[in-house]
Amino acid sequence: MDINSPIESLAKEIKITPATFKEISKLGIKTISDLLFYFPYRYEDFSNIIPISQLQEDKPASIKGIIKEIKAVNGFKKFMGRTEAVISDDSGSVKVVWFNQAYLAKNFSKGDNIFLSGTPRFYKGLQLQNPIYEILPTSGSFETIHTARIIPIYKTGKKMPIRTFRALVFKVLQDYAQELHEYLPAEIIQGHNLIDIHEMVKNLHFPGNLIKLQKAKKRMAFEEIFYVQLAIQKHKQILQKQKAFAIPFNKYLIQKFISDLPFKITDSQKLAIWETLQDLEKENPMNRLIEGDVGSGKTLIAFTAALEILDKGLQAVFLCPTEILAQQHYKNALKYFENYTQISIILLTSKSASINGKAVSKQSVLEEITHNSRANKHAQFIISTHAVLEKNIKLNKLALAIIDEQHRFGVRQRAHLLRNAISKTKIAPHLLSMSATPIPRSLRLTLFGDLQISQIKQKPIGRKSIITQIVSGNSRNKIYEFMRQEIKKGRQAFVITPLIEEQTAEDQGSGENQDQINLIDIKQINKNAMEEQRNLQKIFPELKIGLLHGRMKSSEKEAVMSDFLQNKTQILVSTSVIEVGVDVPNASIMLIEGAEHFGLAQLHQFRGRVGRSQHQSYCFLFSSKTEEAKSILKDSGNQYKNLAKTKERLEFFANTSDGFALAEIDLKMRGFGNIFGEEQSGFYYFKYFSYSDKDLAQQAKQSAQQIITKDPQLKNYPELQSKIQDKIIHLE
Ligand code: ADP
Ligand code: MG
Repeated sequence: MDINSPIESLAKEIKITPATFKEISKLGIKTISDLLFYFPYRYEDFSNIIPISQLQEDKPASIKGIIKEIKAVNGFKKFMGRTEAVISDDSGSVKVVWFNQAYLAKNFSKGDNIFLSGTPRFYKGLQLQNPIYEILPTSGSFETIHTARIIPIYKTGKKMPIRTFRALVFKVLQDYAQELHEYLPAEIIQGHNLIDIHEMVKNLHFPGNLIKLQKAKKRMAFEEIFYVQLAIQKHKQILQKQKAFAIPFNKYLIQKFISDLPFKITDSQKLAIWETLQDLEKENPMNRLIEGDVGSGKTLIAFTAALEILDKGLQAVFLCPTEILAQQHYKNALKYFENYTQISIILLTSKSASINGKAVSKQSVLEEITHNSRANKHAQFIISTHAVLEKNIKLNKLALAIIDEQHRFGVRQRAHLLRNAISKTKIAPHLLSMSATPIPRSLRLTLFGDLQISQIKQKPIGRKSIITQIVSGNSRNKIYEFMRQEIKKGRQAFVITPLIEEQTAEDQGSGENQDQINLIDIKQINKNAMEEQRNLQKIFPELKIGLLHGRMKSSEKEAVMSDFLQNKTQILVSTSVIEVGVDVPNASIMLIEGAEHFGLAQLHQFRGRVGRSQHQSYCFLFSSKTEEAKSILKDSGNQYKNLAKTKERLEFFANTSDGFALAEIDLKMRGFGNIFGEEQSGFYYFKYFSYSDKDLAQQAKQSAQQIITKDPQLKNYPELQSKIQDKIIHLE
């Protein structure tokens, strides 16, 4: 048995139930090594052991004492019982209560020596509520696991008590940590003054002290950014050798296209088009991102670029994150390119396939695409969801890949599209991505050295700004009345409902006061979209209310959207699936329930659904957290701080219509992962590396460059090669 053995083999040495193994495997832990690299997401510092007499309200501490009294107290009716104890040491004694855990009493006996860690509260005298405990063995030396040190808090899922998991990690560390082998080259470790792998793993789980923890985190941070830099540098070498179709600027074509538009393009759009078309003239692949607020008119840039490509009889792909959006762009493309009969406009999603406005079988679309060779001059504009990424689809002359709402695509999907094209033609497509969620400047400098960016800062003329308001609970009816009036005038409204996250087990196990947490859960306005639709139907019996949520089939979504577009329904209740790109100019009200559950960038996306016509538009934010919860939580625990931030966040949002500023502030307030999500993000999500640490990023970059210059294929660094194996770096 060794470090790479399956986790189940531990059963030979440690008593673990099959149910626990099942929970562990849900965390993605398959081997003993996986467990060693499953690090806590935070820590609590209970290393400060003090005499009982020195306990102070709200100050986390550990005590060591003897159990003087212990009893289970039964609860009334619905309430579960509790365990009460009195613990004393030489300096004094303190009362201890474990709420909802009457069963604990039988784990303890009078006279037991016990460690307790927690934060004292004042309730008829100072007491410890739900402290973490650890009973000392009667003899022998003893290292605490759960108390009296900096303790690790892991994400363990609902069913596995964190104590079980923590004890398991402790044991496995003792038995297997020495088997870990170093994978960073000595030159890197010495060059950057990093600690070795054993020190790091040990201190990330059970830090010897805060300085050691800091050093362990620093090494992790370095590794995270170093591997990405290594992958980037390696990829850069390959990219520099790639060729793309060079498309000379066709002035007549573009001028005609633009003058035929039903509106006047903005200066921002003109500049973005100009920058993009210049890129297309070059022999190496374009790599440009169009950033611009929702409604700023990014699609036009993409269509103009596509036109140049298509005019040369090549292929362009327009990749959309949702079926609805693909349909919308397809319809627009049919309109925009109506007079360009030599171009085939193709729609391909998992549900539908059309060519030039006629529904056809998916098979015939696939054949059309696949049999299109460079020899003929048959231009194809393929508008698609990730259906176009399927393996059997060959794009023989893909010259331009457009990715709409690019943060909605995984890096892998995008890379796949490019690789597919490159392997066929040996010619890399130009890449144009679009996003309404701007990449904050701090990230851009660190990670996106090669990316060209065009920003569309102007809105099309004639757009009114959207009035945004945070609404307190008792003004709800006023807002509904206002909605009724607007709808009477012919307008329509969106109502967004949040997905409320469940309380996670680890937060309950960490000694925080459970009762308070539960109270907030109950008070939270826990409405899902279906409930909300029924609720609103009662309030607006005279109106038709549509419903859109993620679990509907896309044909159902289509039907719902189409009803709303034609004003057959006046209110559309939706989960966040509405976020991306849908255009309903007549809608003028956006009402967001549980606004605190969304990031600012996401809220801004919602808000962008309205304000698309000459009508004055409104965005109303309902938030359960800013009002009710505050009165429940009088103390200054962590939760309260979050509430303060929530209020700050929403107020900032209400006062700002600049999507770029909102993205920056989102990054500062909520952290990176929250904005872009972990899996789906087109960006890297780091656990340890912070984007503000420019020095570390710079060091990592230099080291990566040195190594790649010396050994471009990483032949002498097989372990580094395997570390970056599945790192697909940003191609946009
Ligand atoms: P987004 O940047 O959110 O993708 P779209 O490209 O979907 O925005 O454009 C939103 C709407 O604005 C579309 O209906 C589009 O036809 C229209 N539009 C684009 N540019 C202009 C302009 N310069 N003047 C007026 N309307 C425009
Ligand atoms: Mg768009």
